[in-house]
Amino acid sequence: MKMTERFFLRGGDGSMAKERLVVIGGDAAGMTAASQARRQKRDLEIIVFERGPHTSYAA
Ligand SMILES: Cc1cc2nc3c(=O)[nH]c(=O)nc-3n(C[C@H](O)[C@H](O)[C@H](O)COP(=O)(O)OP(=O)(O)OC[C@H]3O[C@@H](n4cnc5c(N)ncnc54)[C@H](O)[C@@H]3O)c2cc1C
Repeated sequence: MKMTERFFLRGGDGSMAKERLVVIGGDAAGMTAASQARRQKRDLEIIVFERGPHTSYAA
C-alpha cells in the first residue's frame, strides 16, 4: 500500500514556503514516485518513510 501526500508549508509571514513531497513506503512504487518527482522538480523537498531496513534503489 502506498500513500503520497503533497502539501505546501507556509512561512512565518503567511507566504508559501518550500514545497514538500512525503512518500510512505520506499519500495518500488514509492522510490519511483520520489525519483520521478525529483526529475520534474529539482528543488522539491522529498521525504520517504520506509518501515523496513531496505529501500528500492533501481527506481
Ligand atoms: C511472491 C512474489 C513474487 C514477485 N515476483 C516479482 C518479480 O519477479 N518481478 C517483478 O517485477 N515483480 C514481482 N512481484 C511484484 C513486486 O514485488 C511488487 O509489484 C512490488 O514490490 C510492489 O511494490 P510497491 O512499492 O507498490 O509495494 P510494496 O513492495 O508492498 O512496498 C510497500 C513498502 O511500504 C512500506 N510500508 C508500508 N507501510 C508503511 C508505513 N506505515 N510506514 C513506512 N513504510 C511502510 C513497506 O515496508 C514496503 O517497503 C512479486 C510479488 C510477490 C508477492
